[in-house]
Amino acid sequence: MSTVLNNSSAISLKHSRPSIRVLAAINELHGQIAGLHEGEVASYIPELGAVDPDLFGICVVTCDGEVFCVGDADHEFTLQSLSNPIMYGLALDQLGRQRIEKAVGVEPTGNPFHAVVLERGTNRPMNPLVNAGAIAIAGLLGGDDPTDRLNRALDAIALYIGERPSVDMGVFISERTTADRNRSIAYLMRNFGRLEGDLDQTLDLYFQMCSVRVNTVQLATMAATLANAGVNPRSGQRAITPVSLRDVLTVMFTCGLYEQSGLWAYRVGVPAKSGVSGGFMAVVPGLLGVGVFSPRLNSGGNSVRGIKVCEGLASLLNLHVFCNTTAP
Ligand code: GLU
Repeated sequence: MSTVLNNSSAISLKHSRPSIRVLAAINELHGQIAGLHEGEVASYIPELGAVDPDLFGICVVTCDGEVFCVGDADHEFTLQSLSNPIMYGLALDQLGRQRIEKAVGVEPTGNPFHAVVLERGTNRPMNPLVNAGAIAIAGLLGGDDPTDRLNRALDAIALYIGERPSVDMGVFISERTTADRNRSIAYLMRNFGRLEGDLDQTLDLYFQMCSVRVNTVQLATMAATLANAGVNPRSGQRAITPVSLRDVLTVMFTCGLYEQSGLWAYRVGVPAKSGVSGGFMAVVPGLLGVGVFSPRLNSGGNSVRGIKVCEGLASLLNLHVFCNTTAP
């Protein structure tokens, strides 16, 4: 399946005939990459292991609101840690940078996403995009009670994707009942005074955010909102303030692919985030957002095809943020 949805007739990409270039690029890449069967589906959360490993959807949403899709772009999956940058942005908007900076660092970890490790010297989680940081952020989010906090978090995601998402109860329960590792991280942070409040409620909110259902079009719309100065280009609604957006994109650039973040920045060179469900988003500021769904993961927990698609797009459309850096 290959689809073009026109939301706007305006075209502002820097290259000529961008619509045709984007559509041609994703069609070509889908065709090339669909034959790749490397990698394993995440199974440490049992419910994630039940997915068809060969599902494959690509969607690009431009900052003009145009939508281009190919493959299984309407198949739903859970956000997993793709929700982390969104919750980080929400916490920044709610509490301000100073407060958040005290609680969570901004360094790449060099460790797997679920490492039970904190930053040397400060005992903060090293960044908000790995489990430790995301759990700490969940503990800071505002709200009167667990229901209010959940509603506010879902409202935040709704601004990025254009509709209120639901929480996949099967995945949520599956995460919650196999969460020894995340509980260890939470207890370690509490030991160092890095996690206050009710630990079980905080973990539940974290699991709920990981269990939010989206499809690839919604994921690409989320990425496009991050690309479009924080305004959803399809709905016109602002999802995050510009000042918080800068921090979110910076951390996605340096930490978005767990311990493979350096290689990603080197090869592809745009802010991105992956999740263990196989979702993958990349943000090209001022131009477009990319969403990919393909559940086979590499050894670092990143979607194999998600990386390949973005490597291909970056090369075909010249997207690396430093690729046009020439001397005056
Ligand atoms: N829910 C997953 C976990 O806690 C998220 C991991 C990820 O996508 O990075 O392990």
